[in-house]
Amino acid sequence: MSVSELPAILGGTPLRPEGPPAWPGDWPEITDALNACLSDRSWGKYHGPNCDALTEQLNAFHNVTETILCSSGTVAVELALRGVRVEPGDEVILAAYDFKANFQNALAIGATPVLVDIDPASWQLDVSQVEAAISDRTKAIIVSHLHGGWVPMQPVMELADRHGISVIEDACQATGAILNGQRAGTAGHVGVLSFGGSKLLTAGRGGAVMTNQPEIAQRIRLFTQRGNEAYPLSEMQAAVLRPQLNRLDERNIARWKAVRELSAELQQLTSPQGEPVLRMLVDACQIDHENRPAFFKVGLQYDLAKSTGSDRELFATAMRAEGIALDPGFRSLHRIHSKRRFREVGDLANANVCDAHVLVLHHPVLLENSNSIRQIRVAAERVCSHAGAIHAVQNQ
Ligand SMILES: *Cc1c(COP(=O)(O)O)cnc(C)c1O
Repeated sequence: MSVSELPAILGGTPLRPEGPPAWPGDWPEITDALNACLSDRSWGKYHGPNCDALTEQLNAFHNVTETILCSSGTVAVELALRGVRVEPGDEVILAAYDFKANFQNALAIGATPVLVDIDPASWQLDVSQVEAAISDRTKAIIVSHLHGGWVPMQPVMELADRHGISVIEDACQATGAILNGQRAGTAGHVGVLSFGGSKLLTAGRGGAVMTNQPEIAQRIRLFTQRGNEAYPLSEMQAAVLRPQLNRLDERNIARWKAVRELSAELQQLTSPQGEPVLRMLVDACQIDHENRPAFFKVGLQYDLAKSTGSDRELFATAMRAEGIALDPGFRSLHRIHSKRRFREVGDLANANVCDAHVLVLHHPVLLENSNSIRQIRVAAERVCSHAGAIHAVQNQ
């Protein structure tokens, strides 16, 4: 296939006319799980065997004593904040480049988000800037592992313990990852998982809070139990999650192998000035037996803008027209919220760079094959070689 073929966004034939692979996959073990729900009627029951079994399975997988299932990852972060006693008037530190709901959760409790810049090497929360964000109102830090990267938890925990602050570790994008020898979500005082429809373990909706501290778990249970469960995960959701958890390690390893292939492919893609067009976030990370990332998204830093003037949104649109599930990353939180809602530390210069340059590749393609990975590079080449024309058409 020649690079000069017209990109789909300019009327050419898409590289993947069928579009990105479906998620969740077509898995026989899910059919079995749903059939079991039919036979024992747990599909229609408040209580059955599945939620209890999933809780046990998650406790064992993560080596934690308490897992509380709930209705979403967003609610799980709120429950985690409540579990560590964040109250109106308190401050919650988080990265200025993070999942929007984490910011909103602090507001929902009446707390003030305090935004810290990200580390330009890892594009995660810059731990060295957290201390400057701490005030006498600081109650918690939300630490998210994003786009296949991770935040080093040991310095975060040392800092937090020194200041008597609680750490909420958001592992929604890193479920099953092993970081510094332990599962993502188990190094903080509370960890959070999402079982949303796009996530590595999916039940369409759902989430979980994990902790080893009984008093945190107790506070969360008190909040969620109002004579009935206020934020439940259903028996049927738990039933489809159990077989996925059994295969999570195997699938995370397969995704990691595909990411390595993608990295090699993308190194071949350079701008006219010889600069890499798409720099992979994980290429900057130290991966060994102690650190084994998980890829809900593959973070890419896009740099063609310098040579053609195309922004990340346009590049992602052109890639999606080829059938590749590439999207702009998050908007940085300080750029989409009123200054009255948060406090910020420093100039957030690196979060500004992320706001403009981060792209994310959605994970399902990572479970396909080498040809699918190669197509991503070919699509990017095609889009880059017509970047000027794409830019001109879009701006007509
Ligand atoms: C997906 C996600 C969540 C929670 O999402 P829900 O859709 O509410 O389950 C939280 N944090 C991060 C970083 C996420 O990616």
